[in-house]
Amino acid sequence: PMQKIQDINAIIRESIYLTKKQAEFNDITIESDLPDDLPRIYVDKEQIQQLLINLTLNAVEATGAGGRIMFTTGYDPAADTIAIHVTDTGKGIEKQDLEKIFDPFFTTREIGTGLGLSIAHSIVEQHGGNIEVSSRSGSGTRFTVTLPVKGVSE
Ligand code: ADP
Ligand code: MG
Repeated sequence: PMQKIQDINAIIRESIYLTKKQAEFNDITIESDLPDDLPRIYVDKEQIQQLLINLTLNAVEATGAGGRIMFTTGYDPAADTIAIHVTDTGKGIEKQDLEKIFDPFFTTREIGTGLGLSIAHSIVEQHGGNIEVSSRSGSGTRFTVTLPVKGVSE
């Protein structure tokens, strides 16, 4: 990836801005709680934006009117990583689907491509990071992306 030193909270704010219309159109609120003492991090900005947009649009699709999508970030000094949490109040993911959602072409949507999370997964992998999901059918979903502050050597 084309890594430069970046402010992850600023990248999150930009992707919220880019997906806001889509959320508003569906009567979904996007909120964020972003600590301002987060260290800067080596990432490919466009790629991280792509990743965040994929997660946000999935959350919009899974969440009905009146729903919420929440972005939070945090720094782990011991691991020197930043975690990004994307939490929605949507329909959740069936237990038997949890292990398949990152597979290319896996979709439960009528018009889905099943590529969004597969792309998200490879972007995170290229950054030496990690993506995890925690969800219960009927009670929302949380994706956690963990990225090393120092990036990966290219
Ligand atoms: P697509 O959006 O085209 O279906 P994705 O790879 O983006 O493909 O997502 C794969 C599947 O993972 C979706 O079809 C859906 O079943 C599930 N999924 C992803 N994000 C969420 C979410 N936030 N809430 C509920 N289900 C989700
Ligand atoms: Mg998708």
